[in-house]
Amino acid sequence: MATIFAKIIKGELPSEKVFENERILAIKDIHPVAPVHLLIMPKKEIPDLQSITAADLPLISEIMAVAQQLAKQFHIEDGYRLLTNNGSNAGQIIFHLHFHLIGGRRLGSIA
Ligand code: 5GP
Repeated sequence: MATIFAKIIKGELPSEKVFENERILAIKDIHPVAPVHLLIMPKKEIPDLQSITAADLPLISEIMAVAQQLAKQFHIEDGYRLLTNNGSNAGQIIFHLHFHLIGGRRLGSIA
């Protein structure tokens, strides 16, 4: 079954886009935990980090570059967190790989 993010990527559901190219989409999180809370995802349907293969590594690198660019654009380059939840035990609820880019306030401990 298509995930919410697959539907957003196809334009079947609305989102607040902050970056898009042929391979990557970044949107604002609908329930932000900080003043800046973006979700950066590949358009390719990859369920989670554990599923990536060597062939996906250029895509992951590009996502890192997009994160840097968005951190600058949103003026949080001095302090942000980029994270992915892998699997339900880590709190993953949408099984389409995505990285949370979080910042704009002092962040607490990681877990
Ligand atoms: P996960 O727990 O899978 O790592 O994170 C999923 C994230 O997606 C959550 O932070 C949640 O707030 C966000 N989210 C869930 N549904 C939607 C939606 O329809 N639109 C947007 N923009 N974010 C969503």
